[in-house]
Amino acid sequence: MVETKIRLFVDHPLAEGQTVPLDRDQSHYLFGVMRQGEGAMIALFNGRDGEFAAEVTRAHKKAGELTCRVKTRDLQMPPDLWLLFAPIKKARTDFIVEKAAEMGAAKICPVQTEFTNSERIRQDRLQAHALEAAEQCGGTYVPEVTGLEKLDRVLADWDAERQIMFCDEALVGAAQTLSAVKGGKWAILIGPEGGFSEAERKRLHALDFAHAVSLGPRILRADTAAVAALTLWQEHLGDWS
Ligand code: SAH
Repeated sequence: MVETKIRLFVDHPLAEGQTVPLDRDQSHYLFGVMRQGEGAMIALFNGRDGEFAAEVTRAHKKAGELTCRVKTRDLQMPPDLWLLFAPIKKARTDFIVEKAAEMGAAKICPVQTEFTNSERIRQDRLQAHALEAAEQCGGTYVPEVTGLEKLDRVLADWDAERQIMFCDEALVGAAQTLSAVKGGKWAILIGPEGGFSEAERKRLHALDFAHAVSLGPRILRADTAAVAALTLWQEHLGDWS
């Protein structure tokens, strides 16, 4: 087993013997901030090829190179689960994306609902949060964060094969029904602080592929609800067992 303490995502093909050039930011981080030098071993992953122990073979302040020595882990794909959520305040939205990546969501999709306050998101920033979460939690996969889309439109184009776990605050306190459903492709849907509108609720309840569920006897904040729903889904239908 090769000892590596630092884990880095690189957007570069990885294979044993492969050299990987480092950009300015990565070089600054590894050699400046983390004080690594030639000969140090770093864990590398790119979201596609698994994880490799790579040796620093060139270290300069503004550039560098790593060479993959041994493969340490195969790519581990998360279950086919998307998280659809209505963006809330900036820090809480960042939290949702970070936790979704840690919890094993395959794709993270901000959706604009009727009561969503924010009309814009910083997709690049959210993607960077997902990447950092994968770096620190040992994930070999980085979920894509999509651009903000209107819930109406998302539902209009929906693939009926993908089930929706619709977290409906109107069911607060109702019995849990998730154990009655089966695996396959799924998405979790979490509303904004203001909840879902009656029109949205009516539409979702009428869809065959949407399953309205309760998240217990208390109303949770949207960020808590996202983590709770991911936990429940992973426990019943995901890769926890
Ligand atoms: N303001 C709303 C609550 C919104 S909570 C109200 O007072 O009714 C934000 C989101 O978290 C909800 O839209 C829902 O998707 C989810 N959520 C929170 N608590 C829940 C619960 N007990 N059951 C199901 N979903 C819940």
